Amino acid sequence: MVNINDFNFAGKKAIVRVDFNVPLDEKGNITDDTRIRGAVPTMKKVLADGGALILMSHMGKPKGKVNPKLSLGQIANAVAAALDRPVKFAPDCAKAGDAASKLQMGEVLLLENLRFYPEEEGKPVGIDKTDPGYDVAKKRMKESQAEFAKTLASYADVYVNDAFGTAHRRHASTAVIADYFDENCKMLGYLMEKEVVAIDNVLKNAQHPFTAIIGGSKVSTKLGVIKNLLDKVDNLIIGGGMGFTFIKAQGGSIGESLHEDELMPEALNILQAAKDKGVNLSLSVATVAGKEFSNDTERQVVDIFHIPDGWEGMDAAPASLENWKKIILDSKTILWNGPVGVFEFDNFAHGTGEIAKYVAEATKKGAYSLVGGGDSVAAVNKFGLADQVSYVSTGGGAMLEAIEGKVLPGVAAIKGE
Ligand code: AMP
Repeated sequence: MVNINDFNFAGKKAIVRVDFNVPLDEKGNITDDTRIRGAVPTMKKVLADGGALILMSHMGKPKGKVNPKLSLGQIANAVAAALDRPVKFAPDCAKAGDAASKLQMGEVLLLENLRFYPEEEGKPVGIDKTDPGYDVAKKRMKESQAEFAKTLASYADVYVNDAFGTAHRRHASTAVIADYFDENCKMLGYLMEKEVVAIDNVLKNAQHPFTAIIGGSKVSTKLGVIKNLLDKVDNLIIGGGMGFTFIKAQGGSIGESLHEDELMPEALNILQAAKDKGVNLSLSVATVAGKEFSNDTERQVVDIFHIPDGWEGMDAAPASLENWKKIILDSKTILWNGPVGVFEFDNFAHGTGEIAKYVAEATKKGAYSLVGGGDSVAAVNKFGLADQVSYVSTGGGAMLEAIEGKVLPGVAAIKGE
């Protein structure tokens, strides 16, 4: 596989899949430009080498239809500012052949939202999965998706994928397009490369003891993650709302705490599997319970197996944190996904803040720590510790699928795995 660092883009047109799905306010102003900044190293590498840059991305969910509110034209100026040079805009991503062929080295062309075409996602439109004609429609859509990808590929000499956030999707621009480039003309961008290395550091090359901290609201959304990790970790800390399903399954009284009854058998299976595999699965032993789901509600610390009726567990209590602190500080590799309490409420954020501190402390002692997937990223940011962990992943869904052990089509299309 080609490494972007070793590639010379001089005299080449590079089509780069970026993730410019930035949040906009009602007036179309960007409210958080993290994703544009994230793509700068890759974009600058192409230009600094003396290449031409064609940028493609999706924005929002236009569902295969043109929607001016989701036009990437709105962010062209911000991209120009990030690159300190003008950015041309192609208002139809599938009809940009002329603009691409006229593009000079050193110039930048931004294509309109890829998802204005249903071919980008490749799902048949206007037909239900249960419809008898669905399979035919799906096959046709796959063919037109390949045509769409081929058109995009025709604009450039080289393909770079730097959009980790969509790496778990087999879309035209994230995976199918790679079929139209030779082995030595497709590569991961810097951002993607960092994400892939971070995942490998925990899933393939972990130093032991390896501890995973899995929190958040529901067991159902993280079953695959937990199962895959059971084969890799030494310690599995399960906290947050999802922990109560494990407590109830073992006969505990959990009051009004969040839980999923239908997952109780699965929770018992996980406890047994952890025992069989010699994994130290650590659940909460006590919780800070609230009377209502609000920040200012009455609070009390209670034993996790005896939460009174009318109360719900909303944060990790000191006794649980003490156990987890020891485990985390002794670890050499740490993966953290999901808060251990309702951290959005300041009065129930203490436990999650403590976990962030322990992970930062362990990192300082030499552990490798990866924080990824949705709310745990917001949590390390909230506690100002993002720069004290080894890596904070930007791709929520893609990171979770990678931790589940699934192959990411966007990565496989380039690495050929
Ligand atoms: P997830 O998206 O599954 O990672 O879940 C994150 C959400 O879980 C956050 O919004 C937290 O507020 C929520 N959460 C964590 N612990 C609890 C809890 N004990 N009760 C209710 N919600 C929780």
